[in-house]
Amino acid sequence: MRIVLLGAPGSGKGTQSQRLVKRLAIPQISTGDLLRAAVARGSELGRQAKQAMDNGRLVEDALVLGMIRERLGEPDARNGFILDGFPRNLAQAHELDELLRRLGQPLDVVVQLEVDYGELVKRIAGRRTCADCGRVFNLLTSPPAGADAVCATTGAPHRLMQRPDDNEATVTERLRVYDEKTRPLIDFYRSRGLLRVINAEGEVDQVTERLTRALTAPAARALRPKRARPAARKKRKPLSRPKSKRGGVRPRRAPARKRAKSAKPKRARRAPVKRARRR
Ligand code: AMP
Repeated sequence: MRIVLLGAPGSGKGTQSQRLVKRLAIPQISTGDLLRAAVARGSELGRQAKQAMDNGRLVEDALVLGMIRERLGEPDARNGFILDGFPRNLAQAHELDELLRRLGQPLDVVVQLEVDYGELVKRIAGRRTCADCGRVFNLLTSPPAGADAVCATTGAPHRLMQRPDDNEATVTERLRVYDEKTRPLIDFYRSRGLLRVINAEGEVDQVTERLTRALTAPAARALRPKRARPAARKKRKPLSRPKSKRGGVRPRRAPARKRAKSAKPKRARRAPVKRARRR
């Protein structure tokens, strides 16, 4: 299955992607993760992306698209993928369309994760990532516990770190950028019949359930905004026809269009041609 998860920063795209990876056995492709890895490696791409990331802006399309082209070409993406954080604007969405068309692998579904603004800010403040295994936790909603308390990579408790761009000032900018650049993708994918929208608030397990249902919902049930039904028209009472002065029923007036026609000035009759008198 080829899936795009759309949603504001903090809407849970990363957490839900990780769960889908297990269920569907397809890779999660997160441009944010790929960019952070490039920054950590100190590569040229990471160097070019870092400033935009630190300020909560989008990294240049050319850099992100190059990275995505390479990643989608890898063998594990042939059976499907979950795109998390990509596309982020209309130009990227058009490029993705074109790239997948050439690969003969069009998208199956795009799910929009809806979360209230205040909730997003709260979630981002509590978000922590394990420095070793990369799992995302939330100190408020989903702290490491039970079997998940131990890191799968080190076997020790997770080393939880806060992302440098999860600070208050950057978060405000990231949410603004989301509204301006990424939100228009909702209509873009809705018009292609690919969009499903889920409520991504509440328990993480419940959101996973809603997401799983949205993925399997038949395309015809793609959630479109309900159109208000036009109010039922009142049946008009037939107008009683006025009586003529002589007591009879006055003939109905011709409809406006006919009247307009008949109101045209009639052609003047030709004057009879005078015949020459016979002599
Ligand atoms: P994320 O982990 O998805 O929240 O991304 C973290 C940061 O990486 C964003 O604030 C952007 O600066 C950058 N980024 C991630 N994905 C993209 C993308 N598709 N296009 C441009 N910049 C991106």
